Amino acid sequence: MLIGILSLQGDYQAHARSFSELGTPTCEVKKPRDLQHLNGLVIPGGESTTLIKLMDSSGLWLAVREYAVSGGALFGTCAGMILLADQVCNPPQRSMKLINIVVERNGYGRQIDSAEMVGDFPQSKDNPEMEMIFIRAPRIVSKGPEVESLAPCRGEVVLGRQDNVLVASFHPELTMDYRVHSYFVQMAS
Ligand code: GLN
Repeated sequence: MLIGILSLQGDYQAHARSFSELGTPTCEVKKPRDLQHLNGLVIPGGESTTLIKLMDSSGLWLAVREYAVSGGALFGTCAGMILLADQVCNPPQRSMKLINIVVERNGYGRQIDSAEMVGDFPQSKDNPEMEMIFIRAPRIVSKGPEVESLAPCRGEVVLGRQDNVLVASFHPELTMDYRVHSYFVQMAS
């Protein structure tokens, strides 16, 4: 098992820490050849416009699309989710169209730049509550029927999955709750 973490910009080191708590090996992904031999790939939070530029110049924009289209497991958090969405608004920008969601950037309002909320993670029957950290977070404004809602928070989908693609509006890598990372490891196995 090996999980790659896109390490061009953003909070990639926090993801590496979460996987290491689970005993799951990770490696940094900076070039297309780093995608070889991965079971899963994480696209972290950061600044989506900057990530687009860096992925273009490194060749990773096309390589990650190919990786996903050929069935590789992908997990995008926050800016990572923006990159994987079918459509992006506020303002519109290019995306990889790998999961059928429409995403509004900074969709939780300018006043609340960051917030901690409690959502549900029904996969854990004994403890379905989950603390969720949102930072200038994108909001899923609509989703296709093929996208499964894995965690609602205040009536909205904040963790969604379509086949091999998982996305979160919040930052599970910033808490000491590793259940979402553990879910992704199972998905990538
Ligand atoms: N608002 C950022 C963007 O649009 C995402 C914020 C984040 O990843 N924490 O790229």
